Amino acid sequence: MRIDLATIALFGALQALLLAPLLLAATRAYAGVARTSLRIWGTVLLLQVVGWALMGLRGHASDWLSIVLANGVLMVAYAETARALRLLLGAPQRLALLVAIGLAGWLGIAWFGVVAPDFRMRVYIASLALGAYLLLLAWPLRHALQRGGSTAQRVMLLVLLGTLAAWIARLVELATQPADAGLLSYSPANAAQMIYSAVEPVLASIGFLLMYNETVQAELRRLARTDPLTGTLNRLALDEESLRLFRAADRPNTLAALIIDVDHFKRINDNFGHVAGDRVLAALAAGIRWRLQPPAVLGRMGGEEFLVLLPDTGVAEAIALAERLRAAIAAMPSVPDAGIAGVTASIGIAAYRSGDASVDDLIQRADRALYDAKRAGRNRVVAAVGDASPVQADPMASPAPSSVPEGR
Ligand code: GH3
Ligand code: MG
Ligand code: MG
Repeated sequence: MRIDLATIALFGALQALLLAPLLLAATRAYAGVARTSLRIWGTVLLLQVVGWALMGLRGHASDWLSIVLANGVLMVAYAETARALRLLLGAPQRLALLVAIGLAGWLGIAWFGVVAPDFRMRVYIASLALGAYLLLLAWPLRHALQRGGSTAQRVMLLVLLGTLAAWIARLVELATQPADAGLLSYSPANAAQMIYSAVEPVLASIGFLLMYNETVQAELRRLARTDPLTGTLNRLALDEESLRLFRAADRPNTLAALIIDVDHFKRINDNFGHVAGDRVLAALAAGIRWRLQPPAVLGRMGGEEFLVLLPDTGVAEAIALAERLRAAIAAMPSVPDAGIAGVTASIGIAAYRSGDASVDDLIQRADRALYDAKRAGRNRVVAAVGDASPVQADPMASPAPSSVPEGR
């Protein structure tokens, strides 16, 4: 059976042409990095169609069109492929490098296309450029796979390996065959590469879409678990995290909970407005987060109440940390522009006990301790009865101050 390579090239271009508008139309669906990469990918498919169509004009149109312009367009397609995938992998764009590789490759191909025509040199130079782009993709992909990776990333790696294999087959053939065959003349490696190139738009697009889907899912999951005002975990995520940490806790000193509640927060809203109140909450959350280290978990339970979960932590350590947080909050110039100063918070603490049936027991004890802290005058840290001495009065906080004025 004789395979007509021009027909196969046409078939590949047709597939890319049909896929491109579908992907470009889908870019309306979602904002962010994923959408940008989808837009780039759709454009890449169109560029490939144009590039290969121009390439197919070899012999019918001037070499300026079928070699210089065609390869220029394909170089841009390669660079954009690398850009789209690096975006999804969260790798830096390296735009200057992408452009430099494409420009060098294109100038080389143009030189050996029209100035000193040499098919062999053109293939070598195109291979070098393609190899550089593949490296720029393989590098972040390898990093991602080393960190566990995903099925989508493995699929993409396979597609890239296929591209590499097809090019290597052609290079080997080119190095060993006596005469320079043209791109569309029949040879086993040319046929293998052309067939692979024809299915590549679909294969690579499937790999890309799987990766795109993963990125969107991860972003949606992040959004679904984040409190938009403070950027901390929301209630849903807190429930998940507390369940997870409670399951891992099996003896004393393996889990402590802190509930932080802003003192007289209602007055901040009443005196300075809800927007100022929001800014206080955001600043407060940032201040707390800044003072916590992984694997500590911070989330907003609701209103002006935050929960900190501390794995592998006993009550003494938790009290020390809570005291640092309390002092830091009291010292924080929350919203200087609004003239709000001296915001304070009370903190209730509980530590895991072997009798705890669920994480709710732990949190309820921390909540009762918080209530005790409020009753004792606010701006203080209290550990649950039995977890430590009942009331850890703060030496700096008596009488419990609140410089937020009463009423307007
Ligand atoms: P206490 O010292 O006893 O904790 O007094 P408090 O005023 O802080 O407590 P209270 O629970 O009575 O009031 C909490 C206030 O927090 C009431 C509500 O209007 C306000 N609040 C809840 N969520 C938000 C929010 O997202 N933004 C703002 N600005 N205020 C909020
Ligand atoms: Mg409060
Ligand atoms: Mg409250």
